[in-house]
Amino acid sequence: MASRAISDLHPQLQPLAESFLRRCRDQGLDPLILCTWRSAEEQEALYQLGRGKPGAVATDARPGQSAHNAMLYGSPAARAFDAMPLLAGKPVTDPEHPHWHAMGEIAEALGLRWHGRSATQPHELPHFQLPLEI
Ligand SMILES: [Zn+2]
Repeated sequence: MASRAISDLHPQLQPLAESFLRRCRDQGLDPLILCTWRSAEEQEALYQLGRGKPGAVATDARPGQSAHNAMLYGSPAARAFDAMPLLAGKPVTDPEHPHWHAMGEIAEALGLRWHGRSATQPHELPHFQLPLEI
């Protein structure tokens, strides 16, 4: 089971994730963290979806290639988190829903990269990443 703990994020991403969550809630959004860090085994299982295993392709990143797999001094230090908006406690699955865009704008204002900008990768909609230059 992949981690949802803020403490498994890169030390520079942890305060940004906390600010992200607080700003979202201040604007009446209800963000749910789906994943922070995942192990190489969990990444491989995700990679096999739609390839060796039945289901839709979930990622193009092999183990070690995802920002979710990053380590620092032997400890989990993910450079990205996945989050989605809830509405009345239920996941917002419509990618056109304004809460997605509102979350993306809040993340970008904090200097994070929101992969929901790319219309060609709808499966990246929940992905918020620490830019490499930070
Ligand atoms: Zn992600």
